[in-house]
Amino acid sequence: MSGIQTGSKTCGCGRGAHETRLVAVTGGPGAGKTAILEMALRSFCAHVGVLPEAASVVFGGGFPRHSTDIARRAAQRAIYHVQREIEAVVVGERQVAVGLCDRGTVDGVAYWPGSAASYWEELGTTAEAELRRYAAVIHLETPAADQGYNHQNALRVESPTEARALDRRILAAWAGHPNHAVVSSADDFVQKAARALELVRAQLSPCCHGHALPHESRPERERDGA
Ligand SMILES: [Zn+2]
Ligand SMILES: [Zn+2]
Repeated sequence: MSGIQTGSKTCGCGRGAHETRLVAVTGGPGAGKTAILEMALRSFCAHVGVLPEAASVVFGGGFPRHSTDIARRAAQRAIYHVQREIEAVVVGERQVAVGLCDRGTVDGVAYWPGSAASYWEELGTTAEAELRRYAAVIHLETPAADQGYNHQNALRVESPTEARALDRRILAAWAGHPNHAVVSSADDFVQKAARALELVRAQLSPCCHGHALPHESRPERERDGA
């Protein structure tokens, strides 16, 4: 995904501006994050925005992806700053009520080849300050190797074991967030998506709240009171 994508459902709230809440959608590779973000765009109104993943912007744009310590640190600094600036666009423009971040700045801890403290120090910020910028964190667990992790994504370079280890590190990095929801990999994709979309809806302001989700049987017309 590139640019800020917004939901396609019609919205009756008629409000031009919303106070934007950032929600980090994260988890290890292969957890279905991209598919769930696409479902969110089909399930919600234009007041739900999906931000592009900073790592994809950076690496997809040609940033060197080397395994050296130097390059890994440089890449994580670049990703951090790109993420902050994408978020600044969304928060500053106030067009969306919920900005779904395809990973957040705290994810960098899991990829940084040093201590968490050295990551924050290098970036001139703190874990507390970064956690505070997100209203909620939705962690989609990477399936274990026997639960069907796959290698479909061309940018995906991890083995199933590495992917699961990365998932655990990301989980630990966000653990201090007061609104940190973990969507279990034990559930099938439909259940995972339903749970994640309910968590997103909970962050919407009441004016935009009326959207039925794909798994809910009541017709949308009835739910919207039309
Ligand atoms: Zn709306
Ligand atoms: Zn609204």
